[in-house]
Amino acid sequence: MADHQLYKKLIKIVSEKNVMVNKPLKSYTYTRLGGQADFFVTPETYLHVQEIVKLANEEEVPFTLLGNGSNLIIKDGGIRGIVMNLGKLAEINITGTTLVVQSGAKIIDASREALAHKLTGLEFACGIPGSVGGALFMNAGAYGGEVKDVLESTVVVDRHGELHTLAASQLDLEYRTSNILENAYIVLEATFVLKEGDPEDIKATMDDLTFKRESKQPLEYPSCGSVFKRPPGYFAGKLIQDSGLQGKQIGGAQVSLKHAGFIVNRHECSAHEYIELIQFVQQVVKEKYDVVLEREVKIIGEDE
Ligand SMILES: Cc1cc2nc3c(=O)[nH]c(=O)nc-3n(C[C@H](O)[C@H](O)[C@H](O)COP(=O)(O)OP(=O)(O)OC[C@H]3O[C@@H](n4cnc5c(N)ncnc54)[C@H](O)[C@@H]3O)c2cc1C
Repeated sequence: MADHQLYKKLIKIVSEKNVMVNKPLKSYTYTRLGGQADFFVTPETYLHVQEIVKLANEEEVPFTLLGNGSNLIIKDGGIRGIVMNLGKLAEINITGTTLVVQSGAKIIDASREALAHKLTGLEFACGIPGSVGGALFMNAGAYGGEVKDVLESTVVVDRHGELHTLAASQLDLEYRTSNILENAYIVLEATFVLKEGDPEDIKATMDDLTFKRESKQPLEYPSCGSVFKRPPGYFAGKLIQDSGLQGKQIGGAQVSLKHAGFIVNRHECSAHEYIELIQFVQQVVKEKYDVVLEREVKIIGEDE
């Protein structure tokens, strides 16, 4: 389908202000890497999302969902077709101990709202820079808590553009994974059930976790957070450190000197360099310790 025809169909669904052509994506990712999206679309309603999915299907246009960009690397050649971002669907509503959050909201904001309403259970998420949708996708977690512990249900759109309400148990949430990818679900909404708590205790826990994060993680540089999942029986950062890789640099990408599990964009790094360094680390750790480091971060898009 010619680009201008696709553009016309997209603006008919979401209006001109919500469709950008050849949109640079760097500023939408925490690594500050990657090329452009052919069409960058920001729906404002659930119906918009459904109609865009249906359009992409009908026209056989590639479709990519971008959350808060904190767990993915976009390649230098960018992304063909439609890139959808749900940042305009970000409402948070609280009734009693139940938080209903639209998926474009940041999970950090959900955790702050919980504190403001004296609710405990989302403290673990106070420093995770993802959207609520991305947090469900990954079953994000930290410091002993994870999405699975507090999620009750979710509203998703399936690959045909149909809406479903699913119980949390239907998402197969496990360590940094779910079945959202294999089912091509788009998460629109999450319902978290929390408990009443003492706001001073909740705040103290959040402050403590923030301190731990800020003192251990290289937050002063762009990065995708922990690059690798925790291999059974090991810690990825320790293996990388013991392999003598801390400080290893390829172009502008560097294995962080502060936390070896992070790769930082030190200076004018390309996605190509960043990915090459990831692969180099995997190769060295495999050779030295016979451990396969599985990537936590997703790599999407095309080479330049
Ligand atoms: C400094 C730093 C610290 C981090 N610390 C932690 C941590 O402590 N714990 C942790 O678990 N993670 C951590 N992360 C990783 C990341 O924040 C989480 O994995 C987060 O859940 C990703 O959400 P996102 O919205 O940024 O997703 P994105 O990176 O935008 O996307 C990741 C995947 O989720 C999919 N996705 C996004 N939104 C939706 C949706 N609405 N429906 C369906 N699929 C969707 C995307 O298509 C993509 O495949 C950290 C990252 C950084 C940069």
